[in-house]
Amino acid sequence: MTARGPLRLTPEAQARFTHPPGYAPRSPVTTDCTACGACCAAPDIHALHKPLGVPCTHLGPDQGCGHLCAIYATRPGVCRSYQPDWVCGEVAPLPTLDARTRRFLEIYGLQHLP
Ligand code: SF4
Ligand code: SF4
Repeated sequence: MTARGPLRLTPEAQARFTHPPGYAPRSPVTTDCTACGACCAAPDIHALHKPLGVPCTHLGPDQGCGHLCAIYATRPGVCRSYQPDWVCGEVAPLPTLDARTRRFLEIYGLQHLP
């Protein structure tokens, strides 16, 4: 068996995972998307006519492996180009999609859900 070396990130990925002052760093071994659903619920997505803070209509329920996209193969470019970053480490561990969505909006200084 070969021992795993430290995870190597590209400089671009390294930059995405560099957290701002005051935020805890995300573990470098959890840079993959965990399908927490926050980025499909919190931001407004013009291409989908999706308002801020409302889960995308294509976002499935968590069935044990995270929230999956029902149109993954044909999702719009904005979804395809989205990549995990340090914000995932802030939101993904929270227990509910609602909590993750609120935290995501809070981080970006966007409106809180009612
Ligand atoms: S917020 Fe991050 S971990 Fe959660 S679904 Fe989006 S990319 Fe994945
Ligand atoms: S289309 Fe899919 S990837 Fe894009 S926001 Fe909706 S659920 Fe997420």
